[in-house]
Amino acid sequence: MATYKKPCMHCKTLIDGDSRFCPTCGSRSPFGYVCPTCRTPISKEQVACPGCGRHLRVICPYCGKPTFVADKCEHCLGTLMVKCQNPRCGEMQFFENQKCTACGKRLKKGR
Ligand SMILES: [Zn+2]
Ligand SMILES: [Zn+2]
Ligand SMILES: [Zn+2]
Ligand SMILES: [Zn+2]
Repeated sequence: MATYKKPCMHCKTLIDGDSRFCPTCGSRSPFGYVCPTCRTPISKEQVACPGCGRHLRVICPYCGKPTFVADKCEHCLGTLMVKCQNPRCGEMQFFENQKCTACGKRLKKGR
């Protein structure tokens, strides 16, 4: 299958259409929002993920306001992603995830 370029929805850089993240701005959802737990495509109008049923609004750990499950809080722009502590993985994971979606290792809570 030919690789074609698509613009990142956040920074508008043209990147490979099968990229899992944008190398320019670091977004994990360059072409649209995906569920942070199961990676099903989601939209801001949805209340729950059609794939796993998780709620698509979370309380921001920084400002305490409800925000969409994106890379960053809509209000204070605090990052909602944490790095997997498996040194061979290092994927960015949603802060509420119990397990890394890339390597399956349990994510430690707290800082
Ligand atoms: Zn980008
Ligand atoms: Zn899901
Ligand atoms: Zn916030
Ligand atoms: Zn991992």
